[in-house]
Amino acid sequence: MKKVFYIGKTIYNRTTNSYLSNSVRYLSTQTFELTKRPLKVEKEYKFIKADIVPSVISDRKIATIEDWKAIRDKLLKSECLKLLEEIKISSDPGAGAYSAIASSAFTNGENELGWKLLNEAISDKNRSPLPRSYLSYLEQCEKISSVAAFVVEVEKLFEFFKQHDIKCDDEVAENIDRIYKKFNRNPKITRIDARGSCLNCKQKLNKFELSQNEFENLKNAILKNVIVGKNVFYRTTPSELKHFQEFVADMKQYDVVIDGLNVAYCIGTKQSPSIFVSLLASVVKHFASHNKKILVLGRTHMQKWPRKNWNYITENADTFLAESLSQDDPYLLYCALNSGLNTIIVTKDLMRSHLFKLKDPKLKVLFNQWLMQSQYQLKYVDNRGRVFFKYPLPYIRTPQKHKDCWHLPLIEDYESSQDKWLCLK
Ligand SMILES: [Zn+2]
Repeated sequence: MKKVFYIGKTIYNRTTNSYLSNSVRYLSTQTFELTKRPLKVEKEYKFIKADIVPSVISDRKIATIEDWKAIRDKLLKSECLKLLEEIKISSDPGAGAYSAIASSAFTNGENELGWKLLNEAISDKNRSPLPRSYLSYLEQCEKISSVAAFVVEVEKLFEFFKQHDIKCDDEVAENIDRIYKKFNRNPKITRIDARGSCLNCKQKLNKFELSQNEFENLKNAILKNVIVGKNVFYRTTPSELKHFQEFVADMKQYDVVIDGLNVAYCIGTKQSPSIFVSLLASVVKHFASHNKKILVLGRTHMQKWPRKNWNYITENADTFLAESLSQDDPYLLYCALNSGLNTIIVTKDLMRSHLFKLKDPKLKVLFNQWLMQSQYQLKYVDNRGRVFFKYPLPYIRTPQKHKDCWHLPLIEDYESSQDKWLCLK
């Protein structure tokens, strides 16, 4: 006989495991909805058979409403967690599954389990938890009666944001804002001025700082996972790889590393070589006039570009030219990291894809922040050869606490390019 039990509207067939062939998302969605609905326990759970859950009912034949409630929670929890483990064997549970179960855990007061799942989601495969999980946690925080206890609990969420460099989406920010007001605090969605001060409270936001030790860890991890990892070196020829290794073995320390082709092509690839070389020469000139030690990475065909500007480039910068590199940016990263903590990288390429090759979540955050603080993006070069960059921000765009005041960045709005923050006094 098939054993079937009913959990609200969901049906799980134990004999055929028919649920497993679908998706955990469906069950977890139901879990989420169930936890939000008023309990109609008797009506919904009268079909649960006692033999399925002997440990819960033990020696009693008839369960009370409280028993059914307990059964429901235990069943849902164990089923969800079991499904998650089973999915891990056959495929990969997504952020949605993790978020739904974590959300349900928070709603049921199992915060430890909720945080464990969210940490696992991020640390393991860099899945970004969905806002739903944070909203469920906030709902519980909102129920706390004392302000002091509320602050302690809600700061656990902010610490999580800080640890994983998470930006709030609008809905989460609006809810934090609303709940803070309810506790008679003084929140505000605000902006940061060009010098890095909050327009609301005037507090200056932190700059990016990396200890030498953290930098060394980051450098080694990037070299190991991104450069020497299985993705890069085999795409080049052995002789070219040897050439590059010889070059970096006694490489100087550079102040600036320029992605030559990226700069040359900044107004498109259909221009003439004389335009390409003049753009690159202008950028080299900009840094040379500031007495910077410059490295240009490029391709051998650049040597055929009009002589005058090309000669200027090679006289004022070191160049490493490759024949057939299929990916320039890992080499760019390598040279920049090998040069030191404060080396500037000139490229429009955001290089975020390399983030996913780092395993340690702390290093992912550091890498992203280091890149944001090191990267100059060329905007344009005017007729007089003056260059204009998008510079790194004078502050770090990550959640931060100053005394009792938290500043949380919102997800960037690329259309309006407004840098919105939540200031929580
Ligand atoms: Zn502020």
